[in-house]
Amino acid sequence: MNKCKRCGTCCKKGGPCLHLADADLITQGIIGPQDLVSYREGEPVFDPVKAVVFPLSNEMIKIKPAGDTHRCRFFDQKYGCTIYINRPLECRLLKCWDTREIERIFLKDTLARRDLIPKSAKLREIVDSYDRTFGISNLLTIIESERPGGSGDNPTGRLDAMIEADRLFRERAVSLIGIDPDTLDFFFGRAVGKIVQAITGASGGKGKPST
Ligand code: SF4
Repeated sequence: MNKCKRCGTCCKKGGPCLHLADADLITQGIIGPQDLVSYREGEPVFDPVKAVVFPLSNEMIKIKPAGDTHRCRFFDQKYGCTIYINRPLECRLLKCWDTREIERIFLKDTLARRDLIPKSAKLREIVDSYDRTFGISNLLTIIESERPGGSGDNPTGRLDAMIEADRLFRERAVSLIGIDPDTLDFFFGRAVGKIVQAITGASGGKGKPST
């Protein structure tokens, strides 16, 4: 095979990671913050090319899956990609019979939250504050110290406390600041509890760069 049949197999394995070249899709409202999830620098993610889990060297934003599936939320069983004319860079480059082009851009020039939230925006301050409070390197240290057989000799409950503090932060962001709950995964990234889960059992599909 050397031609895309638009069978949707790649779309069912996960949405794309966005690159700087995709920024207009967001500023033009074709893809909204409710459609996205951010992975912060240092988060362990799955590399489907090498089939290994590795820490992200730079932030990454992906299109969310539909519900509990891996399927890209823009894929429709009947109509295929519902944003086909405006599909992101990785979707345009992915050829399932030859993955060289997509491998070439893997995690290069990725879009990050701060490319999309103006410096002067109040939301930018809130995102900065969240990242300071729930930093990935701090989280990884706590996970390591609390896991059985880890470097810590006495679990302190700090991990549970961080998961709960994150939950409360998000709850307040919605109730006090009015952030749309569907956009929390974009502005703050995956919840701490979800990152912990991913670290203890990360997996991914083959195709576009995955998590
Ligand atoms: S944006 Fe469209 S082409 Fe890309 S993975 Fe989603 S459904 Fe498929």
